[in-house]
Amino acid sequence: MIKEIKGLHHVTSMAADAQENNAFFTRTLGLRRVKKTVNFDAPEVYHLYYGDEVGTPGSVMTYFPFGQMPKGRRGTGEVGTTEFAVPQGALPYWRERLGHHGVTGLRDDSFLGEARLHFDGPDGDGFALVESTARGRSPWTGTEVPEEAAILGFHGARFSLRDAAATGELLRFMGYQEDETAEGVTRYRIEGGNGADTIDLEELKGAPTAGQGAGSVHHIAFAVENRDKQLEVRKALMDTGYQVTPVIDRDYFWAIYFRTPGGILFEVATNEPGFDRDEDTAHLGEALKLPERYEPHRARIEELLPPIGA
Ligand code: ZN
Repeated sequence: MIKEIKGLHHVTSMAADAQENNAFFTRTLGLRRVKKTVNFDAPEVYHLYYGDEVGTPGSVMTYFPFGQMPKGRRGTGEVGTTEFAVPQGALPYWRERLGHHGVTGLRDDSFLGEARLHFDGPDGDGFALVESTARGRSPWTGTEVPEEAAILGFHGARFSLRDAAATGELLRFMGYQEDETAEGVTRYRIEGGNGADTIDLEELKGAPTAGQGAGSVHHIAFAVENRDKQLEVRKALMDTGYQVTPVIDRDYFWAIYFRTPGGILFEVATNEPGFDRDEDTAHLGEALKLPERYEPHRARIEELLPPIGA
């Protein structure tokens, strides 16, 4: 069994409009944009990263805003809900705030005793705020969201699956422990994680397979401390029969990817080197950062990218 996974690292989704996406995460949700860069395979598309002050692993929501793009079709084989942690008692503030900002899909419920507020992202993304304990995590305070309500990173994620058995087995192999089951949803939890510790598996047996588009999660990344641990994880996965990519340098972390039996693309990403690798903490996310191979084309790329504001 793998013991090196420390919870979530980041969640990467697709969006339509870059400016709308940036405004939603930085203004409405009050996250910090910690990096403004481009897609490694399509440099005319931004890769935007939002998180806490430094983009701590377990807090980072990232987006590829493709411009004109049909919305995704919700279904099985995808991350159905991405959950952010907020302090106890913060949900009334958020209900008011999200309503005021015209956010749709607001719905209250609870799961395993935790109060949740569901809401839609700009492209129908499935999100929820979950009241949780801070567990040593601090929010970004450079926004109008007061510190006592601000987002503390991810709480976890809920997967929508046709059959949860193989994904549950994989999570256990990755070091997650099976927790309670309620309403047909089974919670998995990692001990000694970074706070973004839970994965809930929901079986939707008769539902259609999800189709990816704007508002869909592209992949979900799990955190390991460093490259050595990542190589151990890679070997363990490959020894078990998973097809895992070679280690890929993503400038702010190293990444490996593999497709899971339930259809969701998993990544395992290193906590090193981090988002302050090429910018001062005070100015994270302000300048357009390009992968080295695109620097010679900076002028052309800047022309193609839509302005998104601070
Ligand atoms: Zn990723």
